[in-house]
Amino acid sequence: MFLKDLLLPALEQHQARGLYRQLRQRQTPQHPLQQVNGQWVCSFSSNDYLGLADHPSLQEAAILAIEKYGFGSGSAELINGYTDLHAELEYELARWTGRPRALLFSTGFMANIGVISALSNAQDLILEDRLNHASLLDGARLAGARLSRYHHLDTLHADTLFKKNTITYRRRFIVTDGVFSMDGDLAPLQVLAQLAKQHQAYLMVDDAHGFGVLGTTGAGIVEALNLSGDDVPILVGTLGKAFGSFGAFVAGDDALIETCQQFARSYIFTTAMPPACVAASLAALHLIQQDHARRAHLQGLIQACRAQAQQLGLALMDSLTPIQPIVIGDSQQAWECSQRLFEAGFYVPAIRPPSVAAGTARLRITLTAAHTLEQLSDLLNTLVIIMRDIDGSSRSKA
Ligand SMILES: *Cc1c(COP(=O)(O)O)cnc(C)c1O
Repeated sequence: MFLKDLLLPALEQHQARGLYRQLRQRQTPQHPLQQVNGQWVCSFSSNDYLGLADHPSLQEAAILAIEKYGFGSGSAELINGYTDLHAELEYELARWTGRPRALLFSTGFMANIGVISALSNAQDLILEDRLNHASLLDGARLAGARLSRYHHLDTLHADTLFKKNTITYRRRFIVTDGVFSMDGDLAPLQVLAQLAKQHQAYLMVDDAHGFGVLGTTGAGIVEALNLSGDDVPILVGTLGKAFGSFGAFVAGDDALIETCQQFARSYIFTTAMPPACVAASLAALHLIQQDHARRAHLQGLIQACRAQAQQLGLALMDSLTPIQPIVIGDSQQAWECSQRLFEAGFYVPAIRPPSVAAGTARLRITLTAAHTLEQLSDLLNTLVIIMRDIDGSSRSKA
């Protein structure tokens, strides 16, 4: 039997379920107005919340870094060292997040699996929100820890799970997204921090979608809620979203960072970030800290989106962040909606299982500071027309 004969049945089944994902190809920079598959569209699909991905300051910083350090980093950090720029970015990220130290990882996915597996093993208990990012769940699985998932945002359920797991575990953790990536809602961090202390557990927050967006200096949900290093001793962020760059970091005290550096295999056994990425991240960090107008404009768009969607009768979720999903339910219908929007000049991805729970397929609209109010209302008005049309034709078929 050829390998393909083993693989094809699962692919066909995936397609029949309306779950098949297709890759589109872009010809222009990451920006709301972009050329995709040769067609100009207005994109509401990126996590570039502040519109920094094609900002001239990031490009200039990257070019200067290439002139000074060249392109490649050469090897893993512990083998070959890193540059002054890497050290500077770690120092500034630590200061910004109000944590003693920070450590760079190549991606957020690698940060999460690395941090969790460096901190825990089969003797430990990890409680996670059901809707946590895949990398947080995979981290716990990789560590071999006892993983117990509580209902989304349900701190009472988390408390119950602690009480049910009465065996003495070596260590206990609560792990959660700060802003949930497919829903846009916020973790109840104050309650989770209390709960953690009550059960001698430690709270880890992955604020991939909060950094840059929430808090007065953009330092994310822990800044917005004023949570200390004692409340949230393990804080992870990514540089590929609001930073408009690439990479990730974990912030915390000296012992946490040393533990990750010595034991996180996705840190140890991987090539250091190219200096150009680090330089662009530094430039982005300065913009995030100083350019409050971007966050203000983004907040204006979020309010406008919610007000207009409500007027138009669209079903928004409970989100006050740039992630404003519209639940369609059926995977096939969500996909069709996304296709029709694309034909009409709007790039909005359909998010289907396994990224979200079965029966909650949705259009994931993400807003960025680079969008205009006009682009937003054009999208919503077009969406209403398309949804009525799809709804009408599915009813006439029934
Ligand atoms: C995107 C994301 C990640 C992964 O970060 P990358 O840098 O893209 O690998 C991790 N956690 C959450 C919550 C995310 O949304």
